[in-house]
Amino acid sequence: TVPVITVDGPGGAGKGTLSYSLARELGWHMLDSGALYRVTALAALRSATEISDELAVARIARSLKLSFIPAAEGLTQVLLDGEDISAAIRTESCGAAASKVAAMGEVRAALLERQRQMAIAPGLVADGRDMGTVVFPAAPLKIFLTASAEARAERRYLQLMEKGESVTLARLLETIEERDSRDRNRVESPLVPADDALVIDSTGISASAVLDTVLREARN
Ligand code: C5P
Repeated sequence: TVPVITVDGPGGAGKGTLSYSLARELGWHMLDSGALYRVTALAALRSATEISDELAVARIARSLKLSFIPAAEGLTQVLLDGEDISAAIRTESCGAAASKVAAMGEVRAALLERQRQMAIAPGLVADGRDMGTVVFPAAPLKIFLTASAEARAERRYLQLMEKGESVTLARLLETIEERDSRDRNRVESPLVPADDALVIDSTGISASAVLDTVLREARN
């Protein structure tokens, strides 16, 4: 079987940066599972589908024609029907819609096989919320990366400023807390660390220190 390292945790904890660096260091593939929920939301918003119509959104999730092209800095390029939608799925409004469709059991089920198929030799780093608990429960190394809501809001704020999106820190903190509570309290695959996960709190710790810790575990 193909080795998998799972990286789960709330939004903005630094999972994307860690997963990208890990995959690069190990020469493994990377799965950005959040992108799947974001693309599903985008495709639903673009069609005449009601975002609350679970079966219709699940149908969309099953039929997505996607390709992932690894790009520098961890920002995987995502093509939907050949169109580069990488920027479109990373807006705040698409994130909000993604968080809603991710609460739907039918949508999660529709995306499950697609995620498992990404485990290709020599290995996979899987970034998400339920990678260690649901998608790859047998993964030998599971990381649960967290940080205070304030630290995560600040990180997101700097990222969005760079992209020229206008947001306030206070509004971001509110959004993060709202999404945390939706992720933690949903019935389907709530956000919790796997029993055998290594929990790392990245508040006040540099990305490279977190990477070193995980690499040491991976090479053990
Ligand atoms: O990580 P990212 O912000 O791109 O994820 C977008 C949304 O998809 C999150 O708000 C989360 O609710 C959902 N998600 C999920 N399960 C995953 C990955 C993301 O529910 N494995």
